[in-house]
Amino acid sequence: MLTSGIIILSAPSGGGKTSLARSLVERHNDVGITVSHTTRRRRPGEENGVHYHFVDKTTFEEMIENDEFVEYARVFDHYYGTSIRAMERLISSGKHVILDIDWQGARSVREKYPAATSIFVMPPSIETLEQRLRQRKQDSDEVIRSRMRQARDEIGHKDEFDVVIVNDRFDQALEELETELFNLKSYARDPG
Ligand code: 5GP
Repeated sequence: MLTSGIIILSAPSGGGKTSLARSLVERHNDVGITVSHTTRRRRPGEENGVHYHFVDKTTFEEMIENDEFVEYARVFDHYYGTSIRAMERLISSGKHVILDIDWQGARSVREKYPAATSIFVMPPSIETLEQRLRQRKQDSDEVIRSRMRQARDEIGHKDEFDVVIVNDRFDQALEELETELFNLKSYARDPG
């Protein structure tokens, strides 16, 4: 029986989702985040095997052929995917799983694991989101414009999620996320 719970966490890029997920993992040692595969380039400060497994398009497409993904999607002209191995690694160590994925991946995972809790993290406003992306100083103007377009698209899917958390104050958003984790753990122990 699967006693690990699955949390799907989606948000527009720059919505603070990654910091929230990391804090959750730091505070709960029975929770882990899967390391996805991607064909996008490594950003400064990112480590291969830690933030992502950075692979080329051919390798990614071979993995698709070999059915190695739980889900994958094209986001911003690049492939992103959760490997079965990344998920099993966490589950076999008895951890609850956080998937930091986009709305397309969220759809696939929801179909495969209906008991998963899907959470959408909303920025307080579109303006705040743009500010956050600019403060991050990781992307060019053109990339930021494209990410803002994608963000609007991503936000258009928020109603497909079980829970929407507005990340206005970080502490409060984290608390709301912990409540969902608590509920998920109770359910994973006793699906009733
Ligand atoms: P970034 O390039 O900013 O790290 O991520 C861009 C988007 O891709 C984010 O919305 C992120 O959640 C999504 N993403 C990251 N990993 C995966 C994955 O394995 N599958 C899917 N479907 N989306 C992912």
